[in-house]
Amino acid sequence: MTDVLVHDALVVTVDDHDNVYESGTVVVEDDRITEVRPTIPDDRTADAEVVIDGSDKLVMPGLVNAHAHLESSALRGAYSDLSYGELLVDMTVICQQLAKGELDYLAEAGVRLAALNFIRNGITSVCTMDIRSELGVPILGESGLRALTGPLISDLFWDEPVESQLRRAEKFIDDHHETYDGRIHATLCPHDDMTLTRGMWESVADTAEEYDVVVHTHLLEDSVSDLNARANKEKTPSVCWTTLVS
Ligand SMILES: [Zn+2]
Repeated sequence: MTDVLVHDALVVTVDDHDNVYESGTVVVEDDRITEVRPTIPDDRTADAEVVIDGSDKLVMPGLVNAHAHLESSALRGAYSDLSYGELLVDMTVICQQLAKGELDYLAEAGVRLAALNFIRNGITSVCTMDIRSELGVPILGESGLRALTGPLISDLFWDEPVESQLRRAEKFIDDHHETYDGRIHATLCPHDDMTLTRGMWESVADTAEEYDVVVHTHLLEDSVSDLNARANKEKTPSVCWTTLVS
């Protein structure tokens, strides 16, 4: 039996022809969309568990938030007056506290807040880089969202040996990759092109290949990136780092 049928909705697809139905029907069976087509009169009296009149409503694929730091959601706006450099300095203190587990309540609240906002606003997938990523996994998993998530690593930022950081990242992959029906994807998160040495990037590239996971980072945010690239014998950060991990 059909679980859900939405009729008479404006339906936007991303199928092979990017079809848009001004009065469309979407059928869901066993948690899968099985039909997307123009509405026919019988749809309005269909034998489905849930029938939704989609008049004046939009049905579309979920939006993707391609970059976030969900554990910091509760701090949104707190640093908006600062320059990027000032922000990094101020955030460093909070990052250290997060890493020690002193702000777990804030991290969990941030992920919950973000998940609620996403669901209310049509975002179904997120790519997030955090410090206490393991706290966010059950929240994101149980929310029904799809997430690419992982702990940030950086050998010039964290006072922690490279090997130890990589082992933590690998453990995160072992524990969480492809969990919650495959909706949680563990990622490797070298933080940026300013605070990682070339050696760390090479280790990340090796680990990404070994575990076959996505690499998520910040690129080209500041002129310091150019300086660091030149120190690593490359002309620009984009050449330096993307050749390593692509
Ligand atoms: Zn970021």
